[in-house]
Amino acid sequence: MTVPTIDLNDGTTIPQLGFGTFQVEPDETADTVAAALDVGYRHIDTAQMYGNEAGVGEALAASKLAREDLYVTTKLNNNNHRTPDVRRSLEESLSKLQLDRVDLFLIHWPLPTRYDGDYVGTWKAMLEAREAGLATSVGVSNFEPAHLEAIINATGKAPAVNQIEVHPFFANSKVRAVDNAHGIATEAWSPIAQGEVLGNEVLEEIAERLGKSSAQVTLRWHLQRGDIVFPKSVSPERMKENFELFDFELTEADMGAIDGLDQGATGRMGPDPDTFDTIPD
Ligand code: NDP
Repeated sequence: MTVPTIDLNDGTTIPQLGFGTFQVEPDETADTVAAALDVGYRHIDTAQMYGNEAGVGEALAASKLAREDLYVTTKLNNNNHRTPDVRRSLEESLSKLQLDRVDLFLIHWPLPTRYDGDYVGTWKAMLEAREAGLATSVGVSNFEPAHLEAIINATGKAPAVNQIEVHPFFANSKVRAVDNAHGIATEAWSPIAQGEVLGNEVLEEIAERLGKSSAQVTLRWHLQRGDIVFPKSVSPERMKENFELFDFELTEADMGAIDGLDQGATGRMGPDPDTFDTIPD
């Protein structure tokens, strides 16, 4: 099964469906990612913050898959925003991942209340890391419209992607609209709200009618909206379920019914990027 790709604004492409590794235990990551590769996932999303890049690297190396068949994303941790730290920390990530470049490197959080609010400086260092060939594409995560406007106005360079919280309970429409206006692809994190959307009666009704699970219906909703998703699971059965999204389609009415589940900001699972300021020791 071939996963469709999305065109990025820097001329590259990204598989629209991948595998997430948040909260995968470091000592279980190699086996978990190996199982995901067995199912057919080729796009893996990790982060310095998750502490599991080495396990991802181990699984990628053991897979013997060709580098060009893999798409690997990692993210700059919140303690590495200063200019000299960006390249140093990316080099550490590459060493753990056993790669000489990542496909995509993201600023994990904007941290507007830290580092004198200088996420523009961090963005410039990300662009330099790309110029140095350490990342094919660079982007951001959890950037709100004001953060996006600031980095684009300062550098003339829009990020390739903005990875933000999006799921039926929090559609995050305002940020998605600004992403679209700048040609930035939206990556939807916690696409099934860490399991919270499962059991919702609107999703259950659609799923039952289509002979699918409510996780599959939710992931299909994201794909039809054009977003990139990478659900996380430690279970090979659920990995497989989350990968089987291309043999059915949601009608406009079904899409509209799921759109109707949006609760705005109260539907958020994670922190508000304008105030989130946690930095590891
Ligand atoms: P998801 O929305 O992917 O949900 C994962 C949870 O749902 C796990 O508890 C998993 O349990 C369960 N689950 C997965 N598939 C199914 C299924 N088919 N049926 C029932 N339960 C299921 O949450 P994540 O927060 O992990 O988001 C996905 C990825 O997004 C992350 O792994 C990470 O890569 C990225 N992310 C990025 C953030 C950022 O700030 N940039 C923040 C958060 C996430 P089990 O493992 O037992 O199957």
